[in-house]
Amino acid sequence: MRLAERMTRIGSETAFEAAARARALEATGRSVIHLELGEPDFDTPPNVRAAAQRALDEGWTHYGAPMGLPALREAIANDASARKGFTATADRVAVVPGGKPVMFFALLALAQEGDEVVVPDPGFPIYESMARYVGATAVPYAITQENDFRVDLDELERLVTDRTRLLVINSPANPTGGVFTRDDIERVAALVLRHPDLTVLADEIYGRIVHDGEHVSIASLPGLADRTIVLDGFSKTYAMTGWRLGYALLPAPLVEPFSKLIINSVSCVSSFSQVAAVEALTGPQDALDAMVAEFRARRDLVVDGLNGIRGIECAVPAGAFYVFPRVSGTGMDGPTFADRLLAEHGVCVLSGTAFGSVGAGHIRISYAASREHLGEALDRIAQFVTG
Ligand code: PLP
Repeated sequence: MRLAERMTRIGSETAFEAAARARALEATGRSVIHLELGEPDFDTPPNVRAAAQRALDEGWTHYGAPMGLPALREAIANDASARKGFTATADRVAVVPGGKPVMFFALLALAQEGDEVVVPDPGFPIYESMARYVGATAVPYAITQENDFRVDLDELERLVTDRTRLLVINSPANPTGGVFTRDDIERVAALVLRHPDLTVLADEIYGRIVHDGEHVSIASLPGLADRTIVLDGFSKTYAMTGWRLGYALLPAPLVEPFSKLIINSVSCVSSFSQVAAVEALTGPQDALDAMVAEFRARRDLVVDGLNGIRGIECAVPAGAFYVFPRVSGTGMDGPTFADRLLAEHGVCVLSGTAFGSVGAGHIRISYAASREHLGEALDRIAQFVTG
């Protein structure tokens, strides 16, 4: 079969492939601890599940408006206005099936051959994959442990040019757990304002999972809400990965293009899920608070455990539920470390290279697993490294 040429440029997300390899190993009877997937190990809060069940019984089983149910767009705008520090309005909200489609639609709407898209390295692999898919060039900026997993503004100044259509920032970040400071965000904003054809894609999917410091939305800075696509959603915040619910807060000129892209692809997000999403945003937030507190305790457990193993150096991440330790001190690079750890000791983690070449000496561990599993994984890693 003859595939379109652009299919040679599309990438993938290694986490799903690693999970499949780990499951194949488990099928042979081996015990495997899964620390590869970026999803909370908690259940969706009971009030949200009950709202979906009620919505099904009430007949929310039909097509809805392409950009989202009015009640949900309103709830998202209110929530964003309360938490993100700028006035969001319902007419600029697009409800989509997960955070990922926001990347897809943003790139389809804004970038083409000859354009550049500036993306974090290491960073979520879909930014680069989709940039290449639409024919643009992905230009990586380095996020390093030496720089506290923050952005190097001098480098960013050099990389952003008149050809740059989209600048992707992700704070708190996958895979590093790094959080940009207010000063970082202010300097990125100043850079954006000097480039009139540049739009920001601010991936804030981990915005409510912050352990130290604060989450600053770039859209809260003067003039930036009109230049920024804010990506957020329900997957991580409310443990709703399988529901497929995300949203974009859009600059006015992107509302119509997003609406057309939604109509041409998914039509709308399932209606009963959207009714439940209103409950997630407006109902009690105690399940989220408990989840974040537990993540923080696990972070400390994992960071301490890893730093106690010779050759591993783990910075303390300020947000999300990942650590990104440097393992090159063990004499192995990230891919070798991850492959051997799974094959020989049954712990599935990802190589830092799954997120870009700057991550070569690192692995990513998702600590969205029980403390018991994390403790067992740390024992296995210590045994693997020190023999
Ligand atoms: N953005 C980042 C940085 C992520 O890590 C993920 C998921 O892992 C997403 C977006 C996508 O989230 P969703 O499941 O809502 O599509």
